[in-house]
Amino acid sequence: MINYTVAAQLPHAHLFRVTMRIAAPAREQRLSLPAWIPGSYLVREFARHLSALNASQGERRVALEQVDKATWLARCEGRGALTVSYLVYAFDTSVRAAFLDAQRGFFNGTSLCLRVEGREAEPHRLELRALPAGWQVATALPAVKVDAAGRGVYEATGYDELVDHPVELGRFWRGRFEAHGVPHEYVVAGALPDFDGARLLADAKRICEAQIAFWHGRSKPPFERYVFLHNLVDEGHGGLEHRASTALISPRRDMPALGKPETSEGYANLLGLISHEYFHTWNVKRLRPAEFARYDYTQENYTALLWFFEGFTSYYDDLFLLRTGLIDTARYLRLVARTVSGVLSMPGRHVQSVAQSSFDTWVKYYRADENTPNSTISYYTKGSLVALALDLTLRTEGRGTLDDVMRALWAASQGGPIDEAQIAAALAHVGGRSYAKELAAWVHGTDDLPLQTLLERAGVEWGTEAASLAQRLGLRVSESALTGVKISHVLRGGAAEAAGFAPGDELLAVDGWRVRRLDDALRLLTAAAAAPLLVARDQRVLTLSLVLPGEAAPAGPSPGAITLKAAGAPAKAAAALRKAWLAG
Ligand SMILES: [Zn+2]
Repeated sequence: MINYTVAAQLPHAHLFRVTMRIAAPAREQRLSLPAWIPGSYLVREFARHLSALNASQGERRVALEQVDKATWLARCEGRGALTVSYLVYAFDTSVRAAFLDAQRGFFNGTSLCLRVEGREAEPHRLELRALPAGWQVATALPAVKVDAAGRGVYEATGYDELVDHPVELGRFWRGRFEAHGVPHEYVVAGALPDFDGARLLADAKRICEAQIAFWHGRSKPPFERYVFLHNLVDEGHGGLEHRASTALISPRRDMPALGKPETSEGYANLLGLISHEYFHTWNVKRLRPAEFARYDYTQENYTALLWFFEGFTSYYDDLFLLRTGLIDTARYLRLVARTVSGVLSMPGRHVQSVAQSSFDTWVKYYRADENTPNSTISYYTKGSLVALALDLTLRTEGRGTLDDVMRALWAASQGGPIDEAQIAAALAHVGGRSYAKELAAWVHGTDDLPLQTLLERAGVEWGTEAASLAQRLGLRVSESALTGVKISHVLRGGAAEAAGFAPGDELLAVDGWRVRRLDDALRLLTAAAAAPLLVARDQRVLTLSLVLPGEAAPAGPSPGAITLKAAGAPAKAAAALRKAWLAG
């Protein structure tokens, strides 16, 4: 048995005190902290926040030798219990690490709990008592003995489970509902006084019930309890999935408010996030890449399948909002159009496949920079469109749907690790033919997906809005009257690249006129002749020369936004297909 006691030692200094007790340690006992947290594919080096480590066996001080950036070796004598104590600095407001101040605490075990090497399969206990007055505890960790506020002792069957249950601490709002007989708890930290908790619970319940039914019909899901840990902030959006819980972060203003029954864009985004993370309870936490059968916490864990686990989850997140009536068809199609437009605005879609994007996420997706649009494609967005293209193809052929494929994979793997061959086999099983060609082109290729054809066949009208000036030039900018026009990205193959713009440039003037917003330049640039532009770069003022591409010019690196809407009078087959697809 491994025991951890976590205390909110110095909230104002953002320091947790962790004390571990290891019965019968090895003579040379190795202890290490994970370099990453499953679900977020970046080496984050959590050990950089550890300090003041010391160890003892009874009265005897035990020498701790640091072996590498995240590993310590305790030289023990005899089999007497080893006690290890250390501080963890916790001031990361994201869902991936740990946070502590006088208002609130949160942590993942990957940030706080040293792994006792060789003992990972033993029960791991976590004790939470030394907390500020009035604080509660919320977590999906099974409780051994806790009080009404949740303070006390929890126990996991092993280290993997221990670090897969984040913990929320503080004075938070707490609600409960049941889905298919399974208790769900929903915790919200930092809500405004007009927060409509009853509505949030009712909407979350609809999503949970629909997803349990999707995977299991009328049977129970593979967890006995589920907990949402939701932290509200001024700015920020994200979530991290776990086996029986999720940690969410979203803007306070996106929460439903009492007396305001409409569904704001922000609230629809939040419901999409809830749906996304809950779907992961099956798709990536249980059904998961073969490479994740056992996590290696010390280094990158490569998989080429995130287009399936993140992309297909992204396809289903908003689709479940439509299927449960939380959004209507018009709004759903607007969300799909936003994703299509986003993918088409990335020249990198012709450079990197979604399989490569998955594999390289450790150095590319999670390390976005000014070159990202030119060199990468997101396995979330394009992956969700691969799911859409496969679903529409299957539905057009009439033998099954992507829903059937997901359930076939679940059945074949018994909710366990899978590889790409199993995905191909499930598609062939459901569709009655091989989809090797589609997978080769859509997952491993870099050509655009045939979405327009597939959507039109499903009774959806595809349109393109006029390109903005930034899109015509192949630029992304940040701008305001105060700061002027700053170039953030120069897209591959565009007029701005040809003119010599670089990321970070400040556009000062066009043809002798000061510009403070890019659209000011619209009346000064012409397709007929090159205009002189003044640009500031590294303290120098440079003169560039730019010819405006005509509005009818062949689409530059970034075309105008795509619009999608249900066609008014589709053919009978298209109408039937659309109805079946959008009604689930
Ligand atoms: Zn995800």
